[in-house]
Amino acid sequence: MENQMLGDIEKVLFSEEQLAEIVERIGEQISEDYQGKNLLLVSVLKGSVVFMADLMRAIKVPCEVDFMSVSSYGNGTKTSGIVKITKDLDINLEGYDLLVVEDILDSGLTLSYILEMMQARNPKSIRLCTLFDKPERRTVNVKADYVGAVVPDDFIVGYGLDYAQKYRNLPFVGVLKPEVYGG
Ligand code: 5GP
Ligand code: MG
Ligand code: MG
Repeated sequence: MENQMLGDIEKVLFSEEQLAEIVERIGEQISEDYQGKNLLLVSVLKGSVVFMADLMRAIKVPCEVDFMSVSSYGNGTKTSGIVKITKDLDINLEGYDLLVVEDILDSGLTLSYILEMMQARNPKSIRLCTLFDKPERRTVNVKADYVGAVVPDDFIVGYGLDYAQKYRNLPFVGVLKPEVYGG
């Protein structure tokens, strides 16, 4: 059966093959940097689950994984940067070399808040890995240590990224047709 969401896609930005190459490259880098370390991957639900699932298998040193979920307070479409933890980590971060795994770094507001909270829990080290980065959109000073690809200021979906909670299950990353947004 053909993928029923294909008709909603204006263009594909990253194919499955390109995503696999990106993940392989980052996994290789992380594996080298975390030799002999106590690596804990933390993924912020839900956008980064697909990336997380692939990335952890591209990492060739022992590691643990954990997940957290947050909701951001805000009026309408704007992120306020104040986030509430709706599902906290199971693991106590002390002594871990923490690597936060994100889908996309946009304004950076959500992540800067999360990183501050994580820092307060005394991990041994803390770094950030993001699949996509939109540096033009940054309003706070957050820099990722591992970046899959820099993307232009377009709203992208697929490979975990949603529009109104849908399209996360697309195996590639693309841009939706304008009419899908109800325009
Ligand atoms: P920020 O960095 O602005 O605090 O928020 C980043 C979050 O906004 C991401 O984790 C993601 O959920 C959402 N986001 C930002 N840009 C995009 C995009 O192009 N597509 C999708 N689907 N979500 C995005
Ligand atoms: Mg995210
Ligand atoms: Mg979203």
